Amino acid sequence: ATRRGSRPEQVATHCPYCALQCGMVLSATGDGVEVGARDFPTNRGGLCQKGWTAADLLDHPDRLTTPLLRDRPGGELRLATWDEALDRVAAGVQDVQHRHGPDAVAVFGGGGLTNEKAYALGRFARVTLRTRHIDYNGRWCMSSAAAAGNRAFGIDRGLPFPLADLGRADTLLLVGANPAETMPPLMRHVTDLRERGGRLIVVDPRATATARQADLHLQPLPGTDLAVANALLHIALTEGWLDRAYVAERTTGFDEVRRTVAGYWPAEVERLSGVPVADLYATARALATVDRAVILTARGAEQHAKGVDTVTAFINLALALGLPGRPGSGYGCLTGQGNGQGGREHGQKADQLPGYRRIDDPAAREHVAGVWGVDPDALPGPGVPAYQLLDALGTPSGARALLVFGSNPVVSAPRAARVESRLRALDLLVVADFVRSETAELADVVLPVAQWAEEDGTMTNLEGRVLRRRALREPPAGVRTELEILAALAGRLTDGAPLPTDPREVFAELGRASAGGPADYAGITWDRIDADTGVFWPCPDRDGPDTPRLFADRFPTPDGRARFHAVTHRPAAEPVCADYPLHFTTGRVLAQYQSGAQTRRVAALRRAAPGGFVELHPDLAARLGVTEGAPVRVVSRRGELRAPARLSTAIRPDTVFAPFHWPGAQRANSVTNDALDPVSGMPEFKICAVRVEPA
Ligand code: SF4
Repeated sequence: ATRRGSRPEQVATHCPYCALQCGMVLSATGDGVEVGARDFPTNRGGLCQKGWTAADLLDHPDRLTTPLLRDRPGGELRLATWDEALDRVAAGVQDVQHRHGPDAVAVFGGGGLTNEKAYALGRFARVTLRTRHIDYNGRWCMSSAAAAGNRAFGIDRGLPFPLADLGRADTLLLVGANPAETMPPLMRHVTDLRERGGRLIVVDPRATATARQADLHLQPLPGTDLAVANALLHIALTEGWLDRAYVAERTTGFDEVRRTVAGYWPAEVERLSGVPVADLYATARALATVDRAVILTARGAEQHAKGVDTVTAFINLALALGLPGRPGSGYGCLTGQGNGQGGREHGQKADQLPGYRRIDDPAAREHVAGVWGVDPDALPGPGVPAYQLLDALGTPSGARALLVFGSNPVVSAPRAARVESRLRALDLLVVADFVRSETAELADVVLPVAQWAEEDGTMTNLEGRVLRRRALREPPAGVRTELEILAALAGRLTDGAPLPTDPREVFAELGRASAGGPADYAGITWDRIDADTGVFWPCPDRDGPDTPRLFADRFPTPDGRARFHAVTHRPAAEPVCADYPLHFTTGRVLAQYQSGAQTRRVAALRRAAPGGFVELHPDLAARLGVTEGAPVRVVSRRGELRAPARLSTAIRPDTVFAPFHWPGAQRANSVTNDALDPVSGMPEFKICAVRVEPA
């Protein structure tokens, strides 16, 4: 490429949004940046409309280029210098920690941060702040699948095989996943499968864009996926479709699962879930009687107070059929956020150190403390999952100051009004973002950060493939990277060794810290990534191979076998009743992304999806006296949302749906339930009890 000064005219990089990390080419034009699609194994030349318009935010009028400061509670945010802003943060942190101790300062990260930033944030929290309180919004994304994967396989990598394996399967079962809307280029792999005569089966309470393409659509009552999975295994057992040799040689714990699923009679599961017995049999047969089958779960199955057990039920099914580790077969989770995979490996999680090591493991503490040059005994212990962290803010047991990087919990947290009130009660709220998100609007200090086209780094996509993010241009004057911000704060807060700000240097340190852990990056270098289409972890040696496929010969458990766990259905945390007679569920739409702080500002996306809505069945609408487009209220025990009605036969008459991208009166998370999965800390976003009224 020709170059302008030290910067190229064109770079090969990846989309800033979702975990598919589609390949892109960015070109510098006279007055901006142009996005082009690039052939990459995940997207194969495709982009969705979010990707095509991603550069619209680079020079957007809402872009922050100066720090903002609030001088007194209730006052307005005003422009400030970097020294003023950083001094205020450092003084606030020191004051809170002096009065309440190190744990009184908390850090909240994001699944969109690069690997380098996620790592630096974890190190900053544990070494500079000495707080145990760090967690991130990925806790609300795939933590249930992560916990279930660790429990069964001894490791959590969203897809333990390359995405292209989907196209080689004979049957693909998607559970609570809607990639035709959330990551459309993925459907190219599904098209491969269909063209080979393979079958797509979708489990979803709504007839989504993905379900409408399926050969078979199971439309269960929300919250009954676990029972459906157990019924599928029950059928496989009674029909003699198990892979007995695989179960005997490669797994443990099946006998208890066999006893448990024996009670999941298909007719009873039909009564519970609404899925016809014939469809249960057809699904079990389609998975069990082919050479290659893949089962994938996503948020629809996972965002429940029993999300870990629901994923476990589908893993049990996959293991009983002998799928994991076989070419073109297996179980996987479709991670959502751009760095949802890498973001959970490098120390942003409350219970983990870099390399996906447990923070309560003495050997892990010793190793990572050695890399950081600190005493292992000085490292804090485990913190608490994201919602518990936020819900305790400003209370006697919680933190008094919060630093937010790459997240917008005012819109994305469950029971969001309560979280908002907790944020307002803080002594100090600091938000690093490139726009005034709804969370930034509450902050005492807002720090403007670089965007994806202005920074180098790495991301790890949904396949566990480590990729390069490449900068096309410098950040605007007045903007800093998160690494620079963390280094500047560390310099003010400690007199220890300065934090590196060069992402390549941070990545090298991350590799050393991860060495020997499950997510081992020690053998990965930026040059090695550049030389190929990324590198799959684990990759422990510079000269050794990476690992596109896991589990071929053994599972990374002490005995090399995968572990079955018997799991049983239990009702939603909040059952429907006379006052709240309908099920409420949430999700995404094609043209918006997560809390919408970015995509709501892109004109083309706003035209495509201008606002929230409430999807309800025409029969239900008729009963309620609601017509298409009429304003309705969705009311739960925690709050309400108001949005226009959208009538659709795609949804069950006993269930209503709203997307969660919008704030204010349309905020779906004003309604959602903060009941948590006891293992993963995942909130029950996907089902609660509501009533719907004309507004
Ligand atoms: Fe970006 Fe995901 Fe769309 Fe690809 S599918 S262009 S990664 S948002």
